[in-house]
Amino acid sequence: MGLKIWLNDKLVEESEAKVSVFDHGLLYGDGVFEGIRVYGGRVFELKAHMDRLYVSAKAIRLEIPQDMETLSDNVCKTVAANNIKDGYIRLIVTRGIGSLGLNPLTCKQGQIIIIADKIQLYPPELYENGLRVISANTMRNHPLAISPQIKSLNYLNNIIAKLEALDRNMLEAIMYNHMGYVAEATGDNVFVIRGGKIYTPPISAGSLEGITRDVVIRLARKSHYEVLEQNLTRYDLYAANEIFLTGTAAEVIGVVEVDGRKIGTGRPGTITRDLWQKFEAYARS
Ligand code: PMP
Repeated sequence: MGLKIWLNDKLVEESEAKVSVFDHGLLYGDGVFEGIRVYGGRVFELKAHMDRLYVSAKAIRLEIPQDMETLSDNVCKTVAANNIKDGYIRLIVTRGIGSLGLNPLTCKQGQIIIIADKIQLYPPELYENGLRVISANTMRNHPLAISPQIKSLNYLNNIIAKLEALDRNMLEAIMYNHMGYVAEATGDNVFVIRGGKIYTPPISAGSLEGITRDVVIRLARKSHYEVLEQNLTRYDLYAANEIFLTGTAAEVIGVVEVDGRKIGTGRPGTITRDLWQKFEAYARS
């Protein structure tokens, strides 16, 4: 049996969950989305995801045709209908059906899609041994073109950066901003540890304001680590004692090589492991 998918105002069978070829989400990547985790049947940080979704929508002048409370309820209904205990939710709001032209005003109403499914995780060895990553040549979105804070349906530059990594048999790439500072990975935020302090690029460096990033910063500060939001260069990555990435799907994962250079001991470091454990405990509490 297929999944039950939320489509606009009701659950439908997966085989019935179809969108129009005239949807501007498809035609132009015109829409916003969230990826959300379910742990032990509970939706993780739902309010934070909803806030980010609505602010992303506002930034592209897309009116979400449901209020936040209703949409949150519909997310929970979709999780329950599919009996998801540990899983991943993809919540999408497109501009909706319009004409072939660019004009978004031809789209009468936004389209809501909620998919709740099991999650495909990185294999456990990667958490033990750490990820090898490269520096991408493809730059993160320029803030004067489109704010990198908008979680839009257009991920093309991140996809091209991901391909750069895959071409070299790596799973992730670090993306830099137009000034050469570290922005983030293609779907994760970046943290660097040096001299016992934890550094992460400020949001103004072109990172998405990751919800996992926020949780990890909070957990780290609670454990009396010093966390600094500071611009980081390629040098800071190479000179790091530890590096880790955070994201909804990846959670907390160590990075042990950047551009062929070994980071720290070449194994996920002690602070990375500590924060990974603290994150797991918090998410599942
Ligand atoms: N950066 C980008 C570009 C992302 O798409 C994501 C989400 N996968 C993240 C960072 C991490 O954000 P979050 O912790 O909210 O998943």
